[in-house]
Amino acid sequence: MSRRVPLGSTAADLDAAIAAFVGELGDVAVVTDGDALLEFRDPYTYRESDEFDASAMVMPTSTEQVQAVVRIANEHGVPLWTFSQGRNNTYGGPAPRLRGCVLVNLRAMNRVLEIEQELAYAVVEPGVRWFDLFDALQDAGGGLWPSIPDLGWGSVVGNSLEYGIGYMPHGDHASHVCGMEVVLPDGSLLRTGMGAISGAKAWHVYPHGFGPSVEGLFKQSSLGIVTRLGVWLMPRPECYASCWVRVSGYEQLAEVVDVLRSLMLDRIVENHPMITRGLEVDADGNPYLDPMSETWHGRFALYGSADLIDAYHRVVEARLAHIDGAEVGRRNFDGDDGDGPSNHDERVQRGIPDMDFLDERLLPYGPRTGHLDFSPVGRCLGREVVELQKLVRSLYEKAGHPHVGGICLAPRSALCITTTFYDTTNQAQTERVYAAYSEMVREVARHGYVPYRTNLQNMDVVADQLDFGDHALRRLHEAIKDALDPKGVMAPGKQGVWPAGRRDR
Ligand code: ADP
Repeated sequence: MSRRVPLGSTAADLDAAIAAFVGELGDVAVVTDGDALLEFRDPYTYRESDEFDASAMVMPTSTEQVQAVVRIANEHGVPLWTFSQGRNNTYGGPAPRLRGCVLVNLRAMNRVLEIEQELAYAVVEPGVRWFDLFDALQDAGGGLWPSIPDLGWGSVVGNSLEYGIGYMPHGDHASHVCGMEVVLPDGSLLRTGMGAISGAKAWHVYPHGFGPSVEGLFKQSSLGIVTRLGVWLMPRPECYASCWVRVSGYEQLAEVVDVLRSLMLDRIVENHPMITRGLEVDADGNPYLDPMSETWHGRFALYGSADLIDAYHRVVEARLAHIDGAEVGRRNFDGDDGDGPSNHDERVQRGIPDMDFLDERLLPYGPRTGHLDFSPVGRCLGREVVELQKLVRSLYEKAGHPHVGGICLAPRSALCITTTFYDTTNQAQTERVYAAYSEMVREVARHGYVPYRTNLQNMDVVADQLDFGDHALRRLHEAIKDALDPKGVMAPGKQGVWPAGRRDR
């Protein structure tokens, strides 16, 4: 494979930067071999496509090395693209938006730096996976539970920065980040919030700071590389109850959403309920996809003492009782039940990571399967959730693509996650799926909806929809980008934000 030189740089720039990276990190930590880099392609784009190939990869092991990498990138005008684990596959995995970027792979920075039992938080480096955080918390006595996403192989930092979700009370991961250390685009180091003072005491406990808060600037962002992050955790409750409600049809779905919203706003249900359609399990416990299914499987949890959970569940049952055909149930677990529950739905609401979810994602075409998630954010009102479901369904039908989905609820918002599957070795099919996705983005935008994150192919398309005030948000993003990253070396094109030098590409 020939070396990919990033647009706006020359082969000489790249060679000089690579020599400097080797000088700083050693040659084992710098990968330039084309075959080795194949593993770091966008896993769900057409298998043979080189559209998002990197030119090289560096693997720093310390904050100082990350700073050195960024300084070298500036010196030689070579852009970087960072990942922590690079497992967020439906959004590009480890691959860069701009072909030829040098990957900054942070997997080797994988220490859990601190576990604070009394204040219920941990501090992690970017390479720490959900599995690692869980293990560290168990080793520390199991008195704290993390909120986790469906797959345990991703990183706490990457997922939280991307607004990833989990299904515990602190499942809005980005909102439970507190205190970051960030390498800025000029290579200097920033500590956010109360971390701005040397010897800070309240860095990971107080979410604001003195003056304007800047932490949001580093989420879904091309303005820095996060090298350390505080994350809030949940003290182990006495008991945990995994609850479910199953209904058929849109009318019933709307009622379930309204009841769950009332339970969340009343703080009876404190986690993030998930309602799925099209993901089924047969009598032997094997998962299968049924895109035509009209059945909605709702899952949520209760936490607290046994008495409290019984009382809460009586309220839950009473509010769901009037819904036609609703099946309601629960399973109770002691908080200190060592092994915990045995199935994924029950484990993920208890903070125990696994990889089970991947099995059903590979069902259609085995290891060749790609899937695209199209996930607009709506309001947590039954009638509007159903309207959005019907709209999205009509768009998939128009494109002729079957889909399955889930609705992740918060007290006020509803994330409408939908997934279609394809064979990544089939170029025509893969390209059709991405083209239909772009059209879906444009169509839901006409109704006032925007996806909460997106794949590399569609970052510009989504950003283009944010048109209020003649694209006021884009202008602000670009002004900040140009001020902090004048050479445009950090993640060019991330979320549709391009640096001045590459804006007219
Ligand atoms: P995961 O850990 O879930 O596998 P990734 O490592 O792929 O997630 O990260 C997802 C995205 O988040 C990356 O594409 C990148 O844009 C951003 N990101 C990840 N880690 C960092 C970091 N340490 N600093 C800044 N941005 C990051």
